Amino acid sequence: MNADDRQGAWQPAMTADHMQQPTDPLQLSILYRGPLSSCNYGCDYCPFAKHAETAAEHETDQQALERFLDWVDARPAHDRIGVFFTPWGEALIRRRYQQALIRLTALPQVTRAAIQTNLSCRLEWVEHCDKDKLALWATYHPSETPRERFVAKCHDLHRRGVRFSVGAVGLREHADEIEALRRELPPEVYLWINAYKRLDGYYHPEDLLRFERVDPLFPLNNTRHPSRGRACRTGQSVISVDGEGTMRRCHFIKAPIGNLYAPDFASVLRERACGNDTCGCHIGYIHLDHLGLYDVFGDGVLERIPSVPLWRERALPVLS
Ligand code: SF4
Ligand code: SF4
Repeated sequence: MNADDRQGAWQPAMTADHMQQPTDPLQLSILYRGPLSSCNYGCDYCPFAKHAETAAEHETDQQALERFLDWVDARPAHDRIGVFFTPWGEALIRRRYQQALIRLTALPQVTRAAIQTNLSCRLEWVEHCDKDKLALWATYHPSETPRERFVAKCHDLHRRGVRFSVGAVGLREHADEIEALRRELPPEVYLWINAYKRLDGYYHPEDLLRFERVDPLFPLNNTRHPSRGRACRTGQSVISVDGEGTMRRCHFIKAPIGNLYAPDFASVLRERACGNDTCGCHIGYIHLDHLGLYDVFGDGVLERIPSVPLWRERALPVLS
């Protein structure tokens, strides 16, 4: 695709070449979000409505997770499946999600099994995973845990040879904390900053400068990317799946496109233009073709690790 094509309005090309055929090896990244909706933290900026789950609700989540794992397990070994758990809360403190990652990383058809986490869990379980396939997306929440404790977990992960990115919400009042986190993390670890976009004009120019020094990709996240009519890989090679197997193209477009547990689930995987005006979340806009972010993130798309350490290629005053 040339630069001009990327700027133009995308036209769907629904030829047989672009549709998943039943006999094709499946190449699919699945963002799984089951019913779990509890967290051991209580961040003010949390976008999720959390509650304390009952034993019955945990059981429902467990059964949904097992059904999903059984489905992945039953896929042919030549498939190329990435799984990314994006729970409405903290899942990794639950043994069932640790076991899920152990099980998934052992499957030949799974190329990557990743999860979003606040990293408050114990870490011994990672030793039972195939670490070549395991990845964590770890978010630091300064109001919920001391930086020393979070950083110690990161160093532990690093020593254990686990792939992970670290991030934080870019609240202005957390700028000092985020810079300190950058200084204390292993230099090989990417630290991303999610822009706080709920208030227009929230950042002052000096805030933008500080955050961009830490995360060169911060300006990209601090943008609501125009997306209507644009080509986005979701719905074709990336889908969102809930606990009942309902497939959606992404977390931001609620219309179902099928059900993962239907025998013909793959028949709905095809190119689709985005129907939303903008896309402002990393786990969404990264799949927009015209942004070219698959080139930036390579095989670290799911866990948000750029393929080259571009955060180390800058002179970072905050690190000196
Ligand atoms: S750790 Fe994540 S899920 Fe839990 S309260 Fe904070 S933002 Fe919400
Ligand atoms: S651009 Fe964003 S909102 Fe649109 S389809 Fe892709 S992930 Fe969904």
